[in-house]
Amino acid sequence: MTNKVDFAHVAVVGAGTMGSGIAQVAAQSGRQVTVLDVDADRVARGIGATAAFLDGSVTRGKIDTAERDAILGRIKGVTDVGDLAGADLVIEAATENQAIKRSILAEVAEVVGEAAVIVTNTSALSVTDLATAVTNPTRFAGLHFFNPAQLMRVVEIVAALQTDEAVVDRLAGLVASFGKDPVVVKDRPGFLVNHLLMPYLNDVVREYDDGLASADDIDTALKLGLGYKLGPLELLDLIGLDVHDHATTCAYEATQDPCYASPPLLRQMVAAGFLGNKNGRGFRVGEAGSR
Ligand code: NAD
Repeated sequence: MTNKVDFAHVAVVGAGTMGSGIAQVAAQSGRQVTVLDVDADRVARGIGATAAFLDGSVTRGKIDTAERDAILGRIKGVTDVGDLAGADLVIEAATENQAIKRSILAEVAEVVGEAAVIVTNTSALSVTDLATAVTNPTRFAGLHFFNPAQLMRVVEIVAALQTDEAVVDRLAGLVASFGKDPVVVKDRPGFLVNHLLMPYLNDVVREYDDGLASADDIDTALKLGLGYKLGPLELLDLIGLDVHDHATTCAYEATQDPCYASPPLLRQMVAAGFLGNKNGRGFRVGEAGSR
C-alpha cells in the first residue's frame, strides 16, 4: 500500500509575513505550494522573503543549496484566484480584516473542489463567523500559526461550530507532518494561547498602574519566579502595545468579560504613541519605561 501525502497541493492566500512563512513550511514538507497575492510585486516580495530565510539556513549549515532550490522550486506565485483550482487545502493568511477575508473565502470556495479543505490563519476574528462565507462550511477551520511560522512549533487547530471532526484530524496530521505540534481548541477569542495570555497581560498592567512594583521588578519576578523566557511587560513591548490593545478589545467586545477590557494605562499609552519595541517607546523601552 502506498502512503499518499494528504493535502499534496497547498494554496496560501496572502504572501505577507505569515503567508510567506507558511508557504515555506508547506514546501519544506515536500508539498506543492501555490501562493496568491493581489499583485505580482507582493507575490515576488513574499517569495523573496522565503528565499532570504532559506539563504540564512544555508549560511548556518542547516540545509544545502540543492535543498533550498528544491523547496523554492515547489512554490509557485500567482495573482489570479482561478489558479488555486487544483488545491487540496487553502490556507487564508491575508490582511486581518473581516470583509477582505470573507470575500476571499467565498471566492476560493467556488474555485476549489467541494472536497478541498479551507482554513484561516486569523488571530482575532471568529472562525465560526468566517465559516459562513464558505459553501459547505464543515470543511472549514482555523489553522493558527505563530510568528515566525518557520520556527514556532505550536499550531492551533480551531474547530468552529460547523467543522467536521475528520477535518480536524486531517489538519492535526498535516501539522505533525510539518514537524510541529498541533493543539485542538474551540473557537474562543484568542483561541488558546492568546485567550489565556490576554487576561494575564491586562492584570499585570493594572497592577503596575496601581503601583505594585516597578516595571523592571515585575518582569524580573515573573521571569525568574515562573521560568518564563520574557517578563510580561517586555512581552507587551515586543507584541506592540497597539496590537495587544486591539486584540484584547476585540475579545472584550465578543465576550463582555471584564478580564479582556483594555487597561486604562495601556489605552493612554497607545493614544500617546507608546507602541513598544517598534518605535522604541513602551514599558521597558524608551522614556516611559519603569515610570
Ligand atoms: P501582512 O500584512 O504581512 O500580509 C497580508 C497579505 O495579504 C499582504 O501581502 C496583502 O497584500 C495580502 N492580501 C490582502 N488582500 C488580499 C486578497 N484579496 N488576495 C490575496 N492577498 C491579499 O499580514 P500578516 O502579518 O502576514 O497576517 C496575515 C494573517 O495572519 C492575519 O489574519 C493575521 O491576523 C494573522 N496572524 C498574524 C501573525 C503575526 O504575528 N503577524 C501571527 C499569527 C496570525
